[in-house]
Amino acid sequence: MKIAVIGLGVLGASAARSLALAGAQVTVFERTNALAGTSGTSFAWTNSHNKHPRTYHDLNVAGMAEHAALAEHPGAAPNWLMRTGNLEWAEDDTGSLATSVAKLTDRDYPVDWITPERARELVPDLRLPPRVQEIAYYPTEGHVIPALLVARLWGEAREHGAELRCPAEVVGLTETGGKVRIELSDGTAEADAVVIATGRWTEALTATAGHRVPMASPDVAGSATVGLLGYTNPLATRLNRVLTTPRLNVRPDGGGRLVVQGLDLDADADPANPPRPDGQHARQLRSRLAELLAGTEGARLESIRVGQRSMPADGLTVAGFLSDNSKIYPIATHSGITLGPLLGKLAAEELVTGTESAALADFRPQRLIGRTDLPTLKPARSAGQQ
Ligand SMILES: Cc1cc2nc3c(=O)[nH]c(=O)nc-3n(C[C@H](O)[C@H](O)[C@H](O)COP(=O)(O)OP(=O)(O)OC[C@H]3O[C@@H](n4cnc5c(N)ncnc54)[C@H](O)[C@@H]3O)c2cc1C
Repeated sequence: MKIAVIGLGVLGASAARSLALAGAQVTVFERTNALAGTSGTSFAWTNSHNKHPRTYHDLNVAGMAEHAALAEHPGAAPNWLMRTGNLEWAEDDTGSLATSVAKLTDRDYPVDWITPERARELVPDLRLPPRVQEIAYYPTEGHVIPALLVARLWGEAREHGAELRCPAEVVGLTETGGKVRIELSDGTAEADAVVIATGRWTEALTATAGHRVPMASPDVAGSATVGLLGYTNPLATRLNRVLTTPRLNVRPDGGGRLVVQGLDLDADADPANPPRPDGQHARQLRSRLAELLAGTEGARLESIRVGQRSMPADGLTVAGFLSDNSKIYPIATHSGITLGPLLGKLAAEELVTGTESAALADFRPQRLIGRTDLPTLKPARSAGQQ
């Protein structure tokens, strides 16, 4: 079976790997380079916080389990996954963190309340505000170095025969005689089936096939799709887990570098006007970091980027054929770092064996195709959201 995968972010790399492992003849078409899209600018925290409805929560939990299963057999791949947990606390009196922890506990999601002393054992350089006496610790969460995850997935796809055409921009898809014709900016190709893994560019490509899957616009300043991420210089601080705190989220990025995020600052994120690494937003992020972790005084941001989320218009995952007779299969989702390995595997099973996955039943593209009435998604603005 000849299958084309369009896009080499986390989702495309994952689908290519699982398809190649299942024996398909895989060609990936990538317009720019691996990680050129959202996968290259992600907080990359594996979690299932605030995921509704229940089936979406379960999908994210299964995504975390799939990372753990992959990590059991890493081969020679560098470690992309730090399954070292997340610490979170609140400084307001709204009780929203307690409510969220109670909901997760009801769902049997691992979370413990720990003391400041225990938190400092886990993060020796942590500077906790004195009034914070309870910290939520999520031991099964983790963080990913996205480039290393894609290296693992795409490396194994290649070892099993997958080929890459890059730069290769797909401009249209049409189905005739049981085949999919792939129109490129400089030619054509043909496949028995196509996986669209083009992230925030999914709407345009599905429209060419006659089934437009609506996506939230990735370009609107201050909207749910845009977020600022600061990338620091290497720092002499001891942190090997995620912190999601009222003023700053932080994760290690390898080599002593950290990725920092202040969700309230995202109100100013504008892809058309990215902030400067020495500007006002960077100064805020640096001063919040120094408040939070000893050893980060004098930190610089090597870059500050405006991430653009890939979000199907209702905020949930899309995975499945465009219609009953179609051989075109889009996979698009937010939380694609958490979900990528799982979605690639489930999509490959459906494409190669024809067996439908119960886990994907609520996430078919048909629920969105043709819809124009969906409300604007609310931006993530507080700790624990993403
Ligand atoms: C600020 C921010 C924070 C985030 N935090 C988290 C988090 O903590 N945890 C989490 O799980 N997720 C998080 N995410 C989401 C996650 O990063 C994305 O869901 C994921 O990276 C999407 O991957 P993808 O492979 O679908 O898309 P992409 O990485 O965008 O890949 C799509 C690829 O397709 C290519 N392409 C597009 N159009 C064409 C075409 N016509 N022809 C050929 N190639 C094409 C692009 O060049 C690109 O390489 C975050 C995202 C942002 C922006």
